[in-house]
Amino acid sequence: MTADSEANLDQLRDDLVMGGWDVLPREKLGEHPLPAGAAYEAIRADLELDGSARLNLATFVTTSMEPQAKALMAQCMDKNMVDKDEYPQTADIEQRCVKILADLWHAEDPTDPTGCSTIGSSEACMLGGLALKHRWRAKVGDDLTRRPNLVLGANAQICWDKFCRYFEVEPRLVPLQGDRLHLDAESALQYVDENTIGVVAILGSTMDGSYEPVAEIASALDKLAAGGGPDVPIHVDAASGGFIAPFLDPDLQWDFRLPRVASINASGHKYGLVYPGVGWAIWRDRDALPEELVFHVNYLGGDMPTFALNFSRPGMEVVGQYFMFTRLGFEGYRTVQQATRDVAGRLAEQIGALPQFRMLSRGNELPVVTFTTSDDVQGWDVFAVSRGLRERGWQVPAYTMPKDREDLAVLRIVCRNGLTTDLADWLVRDLTNTVNTLAKDAHPDHQISGPEGFHH
Ligand SMILES: *Cc1c(COP(=O)(O)O)cnc(C)c1O
Repeated sequence: MTADSEANLDQLRDDLVMGGWDVLPREKLGEHPLPAGAAYEAIRADLELDGSARLNLATFVTTSMEPQAKALMAQCMDKNMVDKDEYPQTADIEQRCVKILADLWHAEDPTDPTGCSTIGSSEACMLGGLALKHRWRAKVGDDLTRRPNLVLGANAQICWDKFCRYFEVEPRLVPLQGDRLHLDAESALQYVDENTIGVVAILGSTMDGSYEPVAEIASALDKLAAGGGPDVPIHVDAASGGFIAPFLDPDLQWDFRLPRVASINASGHKYGLVYPGVGWAIWRDRDALPEELVFHVNYLGGDMPTFALNFSRPGMEVVGQYFMFTRLGFEGYRTVQQATRDVAGRLAEQIGALPQFRMLSRGNELPVVTFTTSDDVQGWDVFAVSRGLRERGWQVPAYTMPKDREDLAVLRIVCRNGLTTDLADWLVRDLTNTVNTLAKDAHPDHQISGPEGFHH
């Protein structure tokens, strides 16, 4: 047989047997190209091992968008966000989004806002932190013996540890205490000194979905400054809450209505309802963002101000955000977020009624429900529940709380658009069955009679 006819035979087999050959390069490039269809099918099949996005209650990140959003985003896949000169319309759309958010978060002058899109909240937090650090440096001068620090709760998201390590700022992580599972004004104040570049307030905590008391922290810092102490700005990490509070808690003072708030970030790909990755960073005004951080690049003949860690980035997510703003409007966002909060409340009520659990958060801030086992539960724990739910396809993570509540292990359900009341009821049924099975395995001698009425 000639090499040629052998290749033809291979082609025939590939056409007949769906992904039947191990064609995926695992450690080095394959020798020959594959037909596009074969490559597509093999990788698609491989990806089927990923869990179901809808049953993934671990993530805050958007997992479904409407077909029109997908179409629009696919059309912008090839646009580089940074080529503002080449894609002036995409650049303008980014500016419209910045204005919309500046307005939602009550910036002083939302028609002339200071802000940008990013790849996610992590980048936005880095930019917010850098602005704080540079403002502090400008204030204290070049005394290099002074080491900057940042005050934040031990519940802060990992991106803040990264910021502190990458940009050489001492993280002052305020430990949790008792039922206080996030930062409060009193504890924050104990960690602030004249080298504090800022306090990060989180709306809300990834650990339990609770809002940190931004207004109280601001007023405590106001008093500190008024009494001759250091004048410390706040950055609000509103990765999730930036798209919840404006719609569901309009009276909550957490944003630029508080003069002490210098900057805010949010993740467009969380409750902004866009696929990853898009985030936003907005500053109170021009003064809050030191000019030396903004680069003016002469690029393809235009003057392009940029403040970003990355250079090239796809334009599709920003367009996806603008689609959502256009599609939903204020009332649409309010409706979607309220429905999600309602599902969270319903879950909290039903799980709270199970004697085996104690509720820690009921989804009335971020639509996040966290709970732990009751004191009298023995022989199984939240980690076993997490594994049990996995068998039914649900991804509900179990983890221990940060310093000083490492003793507290919890389960967390993040409610997102798409978790219907129907699915939520199934989840409670599966949870009930899981704990009954665990209790039975842990105490085989006990007579258990429940709704299902099984006996030994
Ligand atoms: C998710 C999250 C982040 C990181 O956001 P990404 O968009 O995933 O980079 C930062 N802070 C908080 C509070 C978060 O919830």
